[in-house]
Amino acid sequence: MEHFAERNIIAAIARQQAGTAADLVRGIGDDCAVVRRAGGLVDLWTTDALVEGVHFDLAWHPPELLGRKAASVNLSDIGAMGGRPRFALLALGLSAACGREFADRLAAGFLQVLAEHDMVLVGGDTVYAGERLMLSITVCGEMAEEQVCYRSAARPGDLVWVSNCLGNAACGLELCRRGLQGRQEYAPLCRAHLDPQPQVRLGQMLAQSGLVHAMMDISDGLATDLAHICQESGAGAEIEAGAVPLAAELEKAAALLKLSPLQLALQGGEDYQLVFTAPAQNSEPLRRLSRQAGTAITCVGRMVAGQGVMLLQDGARRDITFQGYEHRF
Ligand code: ADP
Ligand code: MG
Repeated sequence: MEHFAERNIIAAIARQQAGTAADLVRGIGDDCAVVRRAGGLVDLWTTDALVEGVHFDLAWHPPELLGRKAASVNLSDIGAMGGRPRFALLALGLSAACGREFADRLAAGFLQVLAEHDMVLVGGDTVYAGERLMLSITVCGEMAEEQVCYRSAARPGDLVWVSNCLGNAACGLELCRRGLQGRQEYAPLCRAHLDPQPQVRLGQMLAQSGLVHAMMDISDGLATDLAHICQESGAGAEIEAGAVPLAAELEKAAALLKLSPLQLALQGGEDYQLVFTAPAQNSEPLRRLSRQAGTAITCVGRMVAGQGVMLLQDGARRDITFQGYEHRF
């Protein structure tokens, strides 16, 4: 049987899509679609679905946190453009196993995140989904058109930065799978998987600063998400293995699980941190912005002429382009 990768299916759909609109600034291909409004503003549109057994397992994912995560992963795409999230639509495909109490707890978690970002739930849909619970969320945000940070704006010579640490969510998932989520010393890792924190405020500050060229959120692992920036920008990237920020808890847990922390960081998904590129002369102001935001940022490499994502490790140069998470059918 032939297998289809997510990327190829999206590309095929985009090719068939012949419609245009004068006020459409960016359609398929970035973290959000961008639609021009009056007064120099744009609307940002994004949607993300979560499917039981694929994105979450109810054996360890409490309904409140599932609701939170469903909201957060969508907000992350708004933050990735530098925007301010405003409105959400929530489509619930409830399974036979979901009772009324479950739906209430799920909605409570979802609405909690919306309240934290001063957003409003303005609609949705509620249907019976048979065997598997499914959530599909659409979020609309807004920002100044001239500040939008696209995947396509990276230039050779830019430095590549990421927020916080990478690999925690993938490691947290593995801990949950092995029934180790109760271990206090690994709590931050499990939390990264169960209740990710979208970097909306940092994304807004970076976009407003004008210091950044390209930006996106890391949902499928740096190896894949930076490859999108490379592809859209017509450039390559080099990552220094030793520069990738790894949490102390990750290094300990990865040793216990006999997994490579670097591999979790580059190829594991769902960190929802930001990756962005900026000219080298902006490094000091970026460090100041990071201190002001209270969010760590780390330079992990640089954009170069060429294509693809190369990992520099122990004197070797290895191609890791698109080696993160991808849905296959
Ligand atoms: P992200 O991980 O940032 O949510 P995706 O990798 O899911 O982005 O999608 C990449 C781009 O393709 C986005 O612009 C998204 O809106 C678009 N896209 C994904 N699936 C479809 C689809 N079925 N139809 C049209 N556009 C799609
Ligand atoms: Mg994204």
